[in-house]
Amino acid sequence: MFLAYHHTKRGDSVTLYELSDRLGGLIGTKTVEEGLVELAANGVLLTDSMKSMLDDIGLVPLYPNKASKRRYFWIHQKLSRLPISIFTGLRLLYTVGFKKLKFNEEQNFETWAGQMFGISVTKNIMEPAIGGVYGTRLDSLQAESIFSKWDGSGKSTILKEVKKNKEKTYGTVSFPKGMEDLVSHLIAYLKPKIQIKTQFQSESLEDILKWEGKIRVCMSLKNLLPLLGNQIKKEESPNLLSITTITRFGKIHLTKKPCFGILFGKNEGIHALGVLSNSDIFPDRANGGLHSETWIYPSAAKTDETISWESILEKDRNQITKKTDTPKAVYVTSWKGAFPAYDRKLFLFNKRLDDLESGWIAKGKNIRFFGNYRKGIGLRSLFESTSRE
Ligand SMILES: Cc1cc2nc3c(=O)[nH]c(=O)nc-3n(C[C@H](O)[C@H](O)[C@H](O)COP(=O)(O)OP(=O)(O)OC[C@H]3O[C@@H](n4cnc5c(N)ncnc54)[C@H](O)[C@@H]3O)c2cc1C
Repeated sequence: MFLAYHHTKRGDSVTLYELSDRLGGLIGTKTVEEGLVELAANGVLLTDSMKSMLDDIGLVPLYPNKASKRRYFWIHQKLSRLPISIFTGLRLLYTVGFKKLKFNEEQNFETWAGQMFGISVTKNIMEPAIGGVYGTRLDSLQAESIFSKWDGSGKSTILKEVKKNKEKTYGTVSFPKGMEDLVSHLIAYLKPKIQIKTQFQSESLEDILKWEGKIRVCMSLKNLLPLLGNQIKKEESPNLLSITTITRFGKIHLTKKPCFGILFGKNEGIHALGVLSNSDIFPDRANGGLHSETWIYPSAAKTDETISWESILEKDRNQITKKTDTPKAVYVTSWKGAFPAYDRKLFLFNKRLDDLESGWIAKGKNIRFFGNYRKGIGLRSLFESTSRE
């Protein structure tokens, strides 16, 4: 829908083919008795171009409460707002500003970051922050894949790369009825301007390549792989990650003071990657004075099929609050293979896709692939990558 939006702005004629009977993919919000339950993304990073799209579709962003500026890391079994020493912080600033950025294809993110930033920053900041966003632990990720837009040849610095093409951001926002509002407003905006064909059963790639005009394939990596068929060799096939998001409503707050949430490092005794304090962040997320939280788990957190997600969550939560609290309601959403693993295999797969695109374009077939496996996992990256043509 972002891509369709950018094309309609340019005056192109667009037909959108959707496999399901509903648009929005992972994005969706369930309204339950206790409040709102997000099925995937809880917010989107606001930029000027995103603001102007929201104006166009007539959607007012919901800004976070001031109190949610507080963000915690769980380090050494304690909540911490600054999980590194002042000396390590100064060293980090030096690294960002002056140390030459060099990727190493042999190293996973954990090893690479350990050399780049030192053990303390890697363990206490990188592991919880990057792991929380990419849905897994650092040893399953690769720096070059995550920062594929950056020059990692040893000539640039992180600061230079961050400044390059960086649009100003205004923090994470949601919408009055949750993320579903973004979907419904985009549909209402696009409906009179484009053709939308739902419940569309994909043809083979060969058939799609016979279509006229620009062909833009925007689907999850999981659905793209069977479509690509033998264009990609079995050993080139990237890894997929499964993720579970759990929204819990209860009486007792997670932290003494309101906060945005908590990020968890490796080997800290917590199974979750992170938790968002929804009702601290945005108004009207929970009814009847309840506290709403969303916990994110990698599939590896469920080591035993007989243990429920609910009990894993309560065990984690108990370590933080040191209080037993019976939840009012818990809503579990598991996404199988929803996330691409941002590792070396994905980096090489994207190079292969670039080559395939160039090959087809050379033969007069204008086909390109977009998705959260190409240029970043978040909605902001999807919005920006689909705007560049
Ligand atoms: C638990 C979770 C939390 C997240 N939190 C955030 C967050 O807070 N902020 C953020 O920015 N991002 C977040 N993300 C990431 C973000 O939600 C996703 O990366 C993004 O929604 C992916 O959108 P997409 O349209 O590329 O893919 P999808 O949402 O997978 O949509 C693909 C669409 O293509 C359709 N389709 C599939 N196959 C075909 C076919 N053959 N023919 C036609 N149509 C087809 C599908 O039905 C679907 O509608 C989160 C993701 C998860 C899972």
